[in-house]
Amino acid sequence: MSFELELKKGNFLMSECDHCKKIVWPPSEWCNQCLCKNSWRKCNGKGKIIEFSKKETTYFCVAEIENSIKIIGEIISGTPKIGQNVVISDCGICDDNYFFKMKMLD
Ligand SMILES: [Zn+2]
Repeated sequence: MSFELELKKGNFLMSECDHCKKIVWPPSEWCNQCLCKNSWRKCNGKGKIIEFSKKETTYFCVAEIENSIKIIGEIISGTPKIGQNVVISDCGICDDNYFFKMKMLD
């Protein structure tokens, strides 16, 4: 699937319905709401922190990206707080798992 090929290169694509404009996650060729075809577009990577946790010295968060989908990511700098704006600074696939790294925005 093109999504994973692009993700491997560090490009985070979203599948968005041509008809109802819903962002479909996990990515799919078809809208799970109206069953129309989706188009691929690059995600702007911007979101805000919904929740976060700390594992040893690393923070992880759930961020709501583009006000629609929830992504789990590692926070690469700073101390997170709820509602903080973040942007995906790196993404890819490691050991068959998707990974996302996020940094704070002002
Ligand atoms: Zn749709």
